Amino acid sequence: MSKVFAVVAALAIAVYQLLPDSAWWTAGWQMGIGYAGAAAILVGARRLPRRERLPWWCFAAGIAANVTGIGVSVFSDVVLHLVDLPTPADPFFLLLYPFCAFGLAVLIRRREAGRGRNWTAMVDATTITTGFGLLAWVYVIAPSAEGGHITMLGEATQVAYPIGDLVMLAMMARLLRGGGRRGAPFWWVTGSLAAFLIGDTVWVVMGNLIDQGYPVEDILWLNRAIESIFLVAFTLFGVGALHADARSLASSAGAEVARLGRMHLLLLTGASLIAPALLAVEVLHGEVHDGMAIVIGSAALFLLVVTRMAQLVREVERQALQVRELARRDDLTGLPNRRAWNDELPRALEHARREGRPVCVALLDLDHFKQFNDTYGHPAGDRLLKSAAAAWHGKLRTIDTLARYGGEEFVVLLPGADADEAREVLERALAATPLGQTFSAGLAVWDGAETSDELIQRADTALYRAKSDGRSQVSEAANRPAAAAVTK
Ligand code: GH3
Ligand code: MG
Ligand code: MG
Repeated sequence: MSKVFAVVAALAIAVYQLLPDSAWWTAGWQMGIGYAGAAAILVGARRLPRRERLPWWCFAAGIAANVTGIGVSVFSDVVLHLVDLPTPADPFFLLLYPFCAFGLAVLIRRREAGRGRNWTAMVDATTITTGFGLLAWVYVIAPSAEGGHITMLGEATQVAYPIGDLVMLAMMARLLRGGGRRGAPFWWVTGSLAAFLIGDTVWVVMGNLIDQGYPVEDILWLNRAIESIFLVAFTLFGVGALHADARSLASSAGAEVARLGRMHLLLLTGASLIAPALLAVEVLHGEVHDGMAIVIGSAALFLLVVTRMAQLVREVERQALQVRELARRDDLTGLPNRRAWNDELPRALEHARREGRPVCVALLDLDHFKQFNDTYGHPAGDRLLKSAAAAWHGKLRTIDTLARYGGEEFVVLLPGADADEAREVLERALAATPLGQTFSAGLAVWDGAETSDELIQRADTALYRAKSDGRSQVSEAANRPAAAAVTK
């Protein structure tokens, strides 16, 4: 259905270029396309679950009001000859902004439901809006405030358009930098918003050209082309609403975080450079006209860029910590892994040396674990590893460290314990092994001089002996050969 609508609307826009030069004809045609767009949005919304219709109703209302403004404008111009701002049409035109902004706000909330405030997207959107806001201030808002010959209300009306555009730009940037699914409807709607903004910008540029004496308003095809930008905007919104996947626009699934692609980076860079570019233009013209506005704009942009940088650095730091944590932890048991253990042991030995206290190391290996796996299955083996680790941990002293050395092998550090105390602790752990299983352990008391590798090697030899002596026991390592201890 969205395709049929798109094709018919495209044909109507093509025909629009060829219409006779009559305000009634052109306004009527524009209104036909515009109301069709609003109607398409309503039809699309009807197919959605009731509680998802609100943003679409807002968009339809905004567009319908805007389109009505076209008719009112022709009537007040041609029939009533009202030309002073505000004209009766302005309120209708302007209603587009609050309706769209509200609809977009609702959409953005739904697209990021349950995710907390998205500060990154907010900073990005503010950066873009600040940059373009400065541009709008210098070229549109400040000059119209200097007009002089119009009333306050007229001035306010004139300023309301660029401000409405800035609000819309902010919402669009927020939508683009935020989370949520990015299917076809997302791009149709974004395209529509972009068309509105481009149309308004071209309008401003045309106004400036006319002020400078270029009679561009007399070029018929150019006027038609510019008006067509708005017709495209009305149409794109309708196409998005009629799309079979329109529902996805309010869906929080999909693109978790908007990635900072090349286009986004370019946009952010461009927005940040608007302030110095404006200053350069004014300096080149020999008169700095908007110095204070540029100062404030630059300061705001600097602060935003620094804020963004701080967010990124924090995020990187947090992730580095997380990665470090993950790299040192065994997934299955939650115990420190071999990597963490290898870092920890030399430190523990150094500590014991300085304190002049004993330290023991024990290697534990589950007995007949292969058989357990074969009998009960690998997942049951995993569960045993997990519950055994927890049970042993409960029997160790609080200062002891249990780590998974690999497979069904574990290692325990017992600081301050002599051989007897260590054996006592290990036998307590052995008795606590779940499901009637057992382990064999090799226990080595640090001799005060050997390296961590040598210490582990002795514990391993002792473990081997515990296995060959019948398993389910703690075997104490022999001292290092005297010669080795002396040569070192
Ligand atoms: P022993 O008493 O001599 O130590 O006999 P064992 O069967 O325990 O020793 P062996 O080295 O022959 O087998 C160890 C088994 O441990 C083989 C391997 O499949 C199993 N295993 C190693 N890591 C895991 C694991 O993460 N999960 C499970 N379920 N099994 C594991
Ligand atoms: Mg083993
Ligand atoms: Mg084993």
